Parts: sequence; C-alpha cells; structure tokens
Amino acid sequence: MTHVLLLGGTSGASHLAQALHQAKVPAVFSYAGATQAPLAQPLPTRCGGFGGADGLVQFIRGQGITHVVDATHPFAAQMSRNACAACEATGTPLLALERAPWQAEAADRWIDVTDMDAAAQALPEEPARVFLAIGRKQLAAFANQARHHYLLRLVDAPQPGSLPLTDTTVVLGRGPFSAENDQALLQAHGITWLVAKNAGGEATRGKLLAARALGLPVVMVQRPPLPPRPRTEEVDAALHWIAHGVLPGAPGAAASSP
Ligand code: NAP
Repeated sequence: MTHVLLLGGTSGASHLAQALHQAKVPAVFSYAGATQAPLAQPLPTRCGGFGGADGLVQFIRGQGITHVVDATHPFAAQMSRNACAACEATGTPLLALERAPWQAEAADRWIDVTDMDAAAQALPEEPARVFLAIGRKQLAAFANQARHHYLLRLVDAPQPGSLPLTDTTVVLGRGPFSAENDQALLQAHGITWLVAKNAGGEATRGKLLAARALGLPVVMVQRPPLPPRPRTEEVDAALHWIAHGVLPGAPGAAASSP
C-alpha cells in the first residue's frame, strides 16, 4: 500500500500536502523543526531530524514508506543528500518537487556567486545598506564584513545577542512577499545592495523585482550541487508519479497510465 514521505519546508510542499489529502493518498509530512510555529498541514505531521541518512533509512523501513518526495528548499542540501542516500539504500523511489532557478533579465544587475562566503566577499568596499535575504543559518559568513548595515527578514524573532552580526535591523515575516511590499521595504530602509539565494518560484521573487525597479545590485548565491534525481515543478506531475511510477511525458508514462 502506498505511503508517501513528503519532506517539507516550502510552499510547494504545502501545495502537494493539500493535493495528497484531497486525493486521499496516505502520506506523512516531515518538518525539520527549524521554525517555532510551522504551518499546519492536512496530513499526519512529524517534526525534527531523522538522524542522518541512516536514521532516514530506519524511518522509511519502520513506517513502510513506499515513495519519498523531497520538497525541501533548494538550499536544504544536507536533507536532500540524505534522502538520495536513504532511498538508494532502501530501493525507495525518490522525486524532487523543485522550482527552476531564477534567471537574470536585461535590467537586472546580478553578481553570481557559488556560496555564502563568496557572497560576503562580493559586497563593496564602501559601507552599504544590505538586505540580507538569506534566512538565519548562514549569517556568520558576513561577520567579518562589519562595515555594512544589514536588514534581515526572519520568520521568528531572534533571541537577544543570538545574531552573529552587530549592525542589523530585523523585520519578521513569512512569505509570500509581493514586489510592491518588498520595494517599499527596500526604500524604507535605504537599501543599496541585496543578497539572495537562487531559490526560484514566485513566493520570494518580489525582492528581485523590487531590486530591478530600483536599479540595485543583487549578489545571487547559486544552488548547492546535488546528486541527479527525477524532478518536477508541478504538483499534478508529482501525484502522477506517485500513482504510476513515472512523470507524465517520461518514457513509459503512456504505458503505465490507466
Ligand atoms: P539542511 O541543512 O539540508 O538540513 C539539516 C538537517 O535538518 C538535516 O540533515 C535533517 O536532519 C534536518 N532536516 C532538514 N529538513 C528536514 C525535513 N523536511 N524533515 C526532517 N528533517 C529535516 O536544511 P536547512 O537548510 O537547515 O533547512 C531546514 C528546513 O527549512 C528544510 O526543511 C527546508 O526545506 C526549510 N527551508 C530552508 C531554507 C534554506 O534557505 N535553507 C529556506 C526555506 C525553508 P537529520 O540529518 O537529523 O535527518
């Protein structure tokens, strides 16, 4: 019997959870436990790490998981690598529900970098006002670039003294964020530079449209490399894969459709 493990933490994961619930597909939703009040899901939900790839192998076997859908954020590379390893070890089919990366357009001023340390190095010599739209986990990469003021947008309020940066303004928010509101945010804080991770999708694209409208430079961190795995951007295609074992349009798809 089908039992899907849906690795969450993105809006795509929430959309697939809704679709699995409506289609009455048995599934368990998994959160890392990174935020204090994660969005409620219409599926049985667990929270917290599995204990590495070995722990995930135990979970897959113990829960009788038949399919894994990795709908984590494109920068949640450790979880995605663990999912690849555990699915290979257990022979469990794995699909990534993953947005395509954003592409720069003519009016954009992007500086592409490979990781967060390179992003910190890409900031200018003169003091800038930087919207550091990277979440909380990798802020320390900017600790030795203390001449800049940093605007941070976080899901949860930080504990006093817990941030590795000194000159900061923190705003709280959970996406989606509109371009209009992000443009107003950038202007209200006098932002001159933006640092972003190339997450793709619409929910957090507003800041890029705002930076384009204001002519601001954007330091864009590219995605970490991951092992090859089947992927789709579409919830319907993920449902099809769970039901038929192949993505729509893939070789063998017609043969296995009803
Ligand atoms: P990560 O570095 O890849 O994961 C670190 C560890 O957290 C994993 O090894 C795993 O612990 C646990 N973990 C991560 N996702 C999990 C999940 N869905 N269910 C159960 N355990 C999970 O990930 P991260 O960058 O810290 O991100 C944590 C979560 O936040 C992810 O679920 C991701 O989708 C979400 N998120 C991340 C970003 C981002 O920019 N990184 C942005 C938005 C949302 P064990 O090894 O113990 O199993």
